Amino acid sequence: MKSINDLTRDEIKEVLTQLGQPAYRATQICEWLHRRRAMSFDDMTNLPLALRSKLAKHFRITRVTKTEETVSDDGGTTKYVLKLADGGRIETVLLPHPRGATLCISTQLGCAYRCRFCATGHMGFKRDLSTGEIVDQVSFFKEYLPLDDDAPKTDTARAFSNLVFMGMGEPLANYKNLIRAITILTKEVGIGSRRMTVSTSGLPDKIMRLAREPYEVRLAISLNSPFDKRRKELMPVAGKTPLSELMSAARYYFAKRNRVLTFEYVLIAGENDRMRDAHALAALLRDVPAKVNLIALNPFPGSRHESPDKDRIRRFQSVLRERGKKVTLRKSLGCDILAACGQLGAKTGAKKRKRG
Ligand code: SF4
Repeated sequence: MKSINDLTRDEIKEVLTQLGQPAYRATQICEWLHRRRAMSFDDMTNLPLALRSKLAKHFRITRVTKTEETVSDDGGTTKYVLKLADGGRIETVLLPHPRGATLCISTQLGCAYRCRFCATGHMGFKRDLSTGEIVDQVSFFKEYLPLDDDAPKTDTARAFSNLVFMGMGEPLANYKNLIRAITILTKEVGIGSRRMTVSTSGLPDKIMRLAREPYEVRLAISLNSPFDKRRKELMPVAGKTPLSELMSAARYYFAKRNRVLTFEYVLIAGENDRMRDAHALAALLRDVPAKVNLIALNPFPGSRHESPDKDRIRRFQSVLRERGKKVTLRKSLGCDILAACGQLGAKTGAKKRKRG
């Protein structure tokens, strides 16, 4: 049976037309689905009983449920394990920020791309998340946490105002469901696309397609080396696309959207942290309006890589600054609970404070 959460409002209107119902019912149904998180058609009390039972004959409502909530030692970052209707488990992370927290959501169960520095890649690919499963991660948190606009700004860990598609999986490999989810999130959940960031390992054709969508999402590209050979070693998917092709797609995105791009660079000791890498990175990005986000590797159990020491990271950062690039060093939030970048899906033996 189909899940009604996967449908956009226009598609629900089509269903209603076939059932001989007025189109305005679609607005009511979407409100119940995405803002009020109805668990069954019986909850939709402003719909006629006959319509509720017809819908129940054709559709089901699927929801994520929270099975675990782990708070980092500093009390800021929280990792949630959410159970899908088929029993699969995904991870969603709430990252604190003084101007409102960011919710990092998943788009696939596992990932096929096997980046060497990433725990999700090590767990392999299970399946794409459906549109409804992507959206319901957000609807769940809208219900579970106070809305950002209403929440006191001091309580940054509990409110969220930005979304990043950077949890488990490669969002652009689940393109159709991602775009449908963005459509529902903007229209039904009320989150503007300018507050969303899609983070990708770099799929040029999909980046160009995303540039043509009617959404103002930010784009973050995981680069990790300015050299094709090393990049391919770190990210096997990069073997299919030379950096020249990726950079053309990035420039195209900027030309279409006029939004500064972010290039993520995970610093791994002995792999991509030489000053030569920093100079080559600055040269690669010289004609792209971009900021570089450096991330010291977040190790996970079983990983054979390490983060460079602080001095080396600072020197890498300085080279980029001296060459005129805007560069930030991302704080590794939630490392102790395996909630930081590249750690999702890692099995933890760590005992942390748990809620729920
Ligand atoms: S970094 Fe992203 S694309 Fe690479 S394996 Fe991890 S989830 Fe997949």
